[in-house]
Amino acid sequence: MKHVLMAVSGPSGAGKGTIVKTLLQRREDVVESVSCTTREPREGEVHGKHYFFLSKEEFFRRIEENDFLEYDEHFGNYYGTPKSFVEETLKTKSVIMEIDVVGALNAKKFFPDCVLVMILPPSIEELKKRLVGRGSETAEEIENRLSRIQYEVSQRDKYDYIIVNDDLETAIAEVSRIFDGE
Ligand code: 5GP
Repeated sequence: MKHVLMAVSGPSGAGKGTIVKTLLQRREDVVESVSCTTREPREGEVHGKHYFFLSKEEFFRRIEENDFLEYDEHFGNYYGTPKSFVEETLKTKSVIMEIDVVGALNAKKFFPDCVLVMILPPSIEELKKRLVGRGSETAEEIENRLSRIQYEVSQRDKYDYIIVNDDLETAIAEVSRIFDGE
C-alpha cells in the first residue's frame, strides 16, 4: 500500500485541528508530522512530540543540508517540516501535516506527491462575523485575521481537495477516504 503525505490547511475556526486530531486517534496508519522550531519550548511541550526544538545554528545547518520540505519565519522564530522525519515515516505510514497555505504550497513544490486538502467552514461570512463578534481581538488583529482568511480562501484552486466542514463526522470521513484512495 502506498503511503500518503497530506497537508491540511484552512482558516482557523474551520475545524481542521479537530478533524486532524480525531483522524489520528482513529487511524494507526497515519502519523502527524513533527516540525522543527527555534523558539523556546512552552510549559509542557515535549521535544520530539510537539516540536523538535533546535538552536538557530542547528536550524540553519539543516537548511544548508536541504533537510526541510518547507520552512518559514513567524514572530522572529523559524519553523520547518523536516524532510528526513517525513521520508522515514512514509516508509511505513502516511503522514499528515497541519500547515498554513504558504507552507503547504512550498511543501508541494519540494514534494509534488503531497496531497493538499483545504478545510473550509460552511460560511466564510459567518466565520468573519464570529471573529468580529468575539470582541477579544483589537481592530488591527481582526483586520489581519480577515485578510489572512481572504488570502487562504483565494488559494483554494491550488488545492487537490476542498472539504466544507458543515458536519464534523462527514468531514473526517472524507479526509479518511482520501488516505484510502490516494
Ligand atoms: P507556535 O509557536 O504558536 O507553535 O506556532 C507559530 C506559527 O508557526 C503557527 O502559525 C504555526 O502554524 C506555524 N508553524 C508551526 N510549524 C510549522 C512548520 O513546520 N512550517 C511552517 N511554515 N509553519 C509552522
